[in-house]
Amino acid sequence: MMPIGHGALPNYVLVERKAVKHLRLVINRDASVRLVLPKRASMRSALAFYGERQAWVDSKRRLVLAQQQAADAYDDLDSALFYGESYQVAYNAPRDAIDHSLQMITVRAPRSAAARLRVWRNLAALDLRQRLESEAERLAVTVNKVSIRDQKTRWGSCSSKGNISLNWRVALMPLDVGNYIIAHEFAHLRHMNHSPRFWAEVERLCPNYRAAERWIKQQGSALMMVQRR
Ligand SMILES: [Zn+2]
Repeated sequence: MMPIGHGALPNYVLVERKAVKHLRLVINRDASVRLVLPKRASMRSALAFYGERQAWVDSKRRLVLAQQQAADAYDDLDSALFYGESYQVAYNAPRDAIDHSLQMITVRAPRSAAARLRVWRNLAALDLRQRLESEAERLAVTVNKVSIRDQKTRWGSCSSKGNISLNWRVALMPLDVGNYIIAHEFAHLRHMNHSPRFWAEVERLCPNYRAAERWIKQQGSALMMVQRR
C-alpha cells in the first residue's frame, strides 16, 4: 500500500492503489490525505500530481484542522452551546431543564459526557419542536410531521408530503439563524427547489435571511462538527 518512497510525500499522505482511471486526492475528516492511484500509474507521475496540488492540500487541511479545533471547544463538560451562547451545565440537579435567562442547563445524572449529550440533545429537540410549531402558527404554514435528527451534513429537509426534519444543532445557532432554517424549510413546502420564487418566499417569511445565510457560511461547518466522531 506504500510503494512510493518515504520522504517524497508528507507523512499525513496515505497512498492507495486502486482500479481507477485517474489520480485522485481526498482530504479526510481527520486532516489526513488519501492519494489514490490507478494500478499502473508511475511514482513519478504521482509525485508530480501531488506536488502541483500541495498548496490546495495545505489550505484544505488548515480549514479541517480549524473546524476540528472549533468543535473541540464544545467538548467541555461544564458548558454547552445553545442559541449561539455558552450555557453553564450543572449535574446532580432535581431535573433535566434549561433556563434561558440564567443561560443554564441542569442535568439529573452525575457529570459525564454521555449525560450532557443526552440532555443537550433532548432539550434542543424539544426547543426546536416548540419553535417550529409557533413559527408555523405565526406564519400560517401547515406542517405534517416534524422530526429532529442527528444529520451529518444538513440543517434541515422537507419532503413533498410536508414532513420537515431539522438537525438538533439548529438549536445551537443564534435564534435568528435557527429561525431562518425553519423558514427555509417552510418555503420548501411551497417550492421544492431553490428557484427565485423559492427565495422570494424565504424573504417573505424571513426578511433578514441574508445575514443568517452569511452566519451559516462562516460558522456552519464548525457547528456541524459538534459532538461527532
Ligand atoms: Zn433548501
